[in-house]
Amino acid sequence: MQLKENRLLKNLAYLNGEWTAAREGSTFRVCNPYDGSLLAEVADLGEEETCRTIELARQAQVQWAGKSAGHRSRILRRWHDLILEHTDDLALILTSEQGKPLAEAVGEIRYGASFVEWYAEEAKRAYGDVIPAHGSDKRITILKQPVGVVAAITPWNFPVAMVTRKVAPALAVGCSVILKPADATPLSALALAVLAHEAGFPPGVFNVITTTWAKEVGKLFCTSPLVRKLSFTGSTAVGKELMRQCATTVKKLSLELGGNAPFIVFDDADLPAAVQGAIESKYRNGGQTCVCANRIYVQAGIYERFVAEFAAATQELKLGDGRLAETDLGPLINKAALEKVEQLVDDACAKGARALTGGHSSTLGGYFYAPTVLTDVNHTMDIHQAEIFGPVAPIFRFETEADAIRAANDTRAGLAAYFYGRDYARIWRVAEALEFGMVGINTGMISTAVAPFGGIKESGFGREGSFYGLDDYLEVKYLCWGGI
Ligand code: ADP
Repeated sequence: MQLKENRLLKNLAYLNGEWTAAREGSTFRVCNPYDGSLLAEVADLGEEETCRTIELARQAQVQWAGKSAGHRSRILRRWHDLILEHTDDLALILTSEQGKPLAEAVGEIRYGASFVEWYAEEAKRAYGDVIPAHGSDKRITILKQPVGVVAAITPWNFPVAMVTRKVAPALAVGCSVILKPADATPLSALALAVLAHEAGFPPGVFNVITTTWAKEVGKLFCTSPLVRKLSFTGSTAVGKELMRQCATTVKKLSLELGGNAPFIVFDDADLPAAVQGAIESKYRNGGQTCVCANRIYVQAGIYERFVAEFAAATQELKLGDGRLAETDLGPLINKAALEKVEQLVDDACAKGARALTGGHSSTLGGYFYAPTVLTDVNHTMDIHQAEIFGPVAPIFRFETEADAIRAANDTRAGLAAYFYGRDYARIWRVAEALEFGMVGINTGMISTAVAPFGGIKESGFGREGSFYGLDDYLEVKYLCWGGI
């Protein structure tokens, strides 16, 4: 099916229930990273529209919070059903603007929809508490109330799932949301807005601001006293800046920032499973996820066999147009992403690393980089501390469990970690010792709506998914009843 026949394809912002052009008609181009072809010219909004949207979102939020939880739940459920009914249309938009293979895009739509389903259910369970009081004439009750207007800033690597996992819990508890998607991938967010509109969210409850003025719009979100919460997924540097700006209004924050995931393989690991897990964890979305294996540590006794099998499996990956069924890996998102990966590999090779396969950009040209396995890597190389965000797997050799834990924790990031092994006592020890918010044990795939996703250290704070994810959008209010 051609993209232009896709009824979910929109090029206007979605504000207060209306499709809105920029004030002076300004637009920006959204292109397919596969071949650079133009997909849409999208409204490029500015500060004035943002301020107005914040005010309208505040009015809408008060009404929305006044609805019953069951009412909000039913609208979320309709949105979920519509997303699934339109999986193919959404997946085509996603692949066209982001480049990932269509099968992965379909997976992301289902994963994204699962957050809407989960929070349609959790909407009904934002329970308060009754606490035994400190005096016989007193009673203590606890209310959980929506924080208010939420601003959400999302990245380009999961243009659907990063949206739903912020928007669904916020809407479920009675917040309103102003979403600013990445300017590389606004079309998926707008397509979700089409379906949200059809699901019946009232005007102003869910808004999508499309803009290239990220810094200016972001600053307004942070400094507006009407916005009570900012939820951000993106780079650590931008997250730190937003955190500084949010200090001006003491705003509630959730930050999901960069990762630097270690993937450890112990001598007693199930080798085929570990190779398979590493391939999935490393190359999903072309290596462009914040939980991708970034550093692979393999114990000396299994090192040679792991490296041989992992390199062989890497060589089989097929690069190409994400819209074709045979494609395993799409292009990187843009030129800057390609150049960053090139620099990291060049630096490692200049300092003694060896590329068993790849080690250069792909002969396909464009933003394609050849899947690459590096050995003889060490901690002096930039690739050890950088978040690679590309299909490059540096493999380190280690001797003891203590060495592996020390090396794995030697990072300021603390998002995801993985390890493979069978000794149950060691599994406990290592799981407890790893300084990360999420640990995959004998699996390379950890993301699900039913578990809390999030990091520690400089990977941020706040959790998305599961019942924990609801708390990020709720305030706790203590009522002290006297004279009883
Ligand atoms: P990435 O490296 O993944 O593009 P960014 O942190 O640059 O990560 O982008 C993530 C999101 O943050 C995008 O929606 C982007 O437009 C937005 N963004 C980038 N810079 C700023 C900023 N200074 N203030 C607010 N949002 C920003």
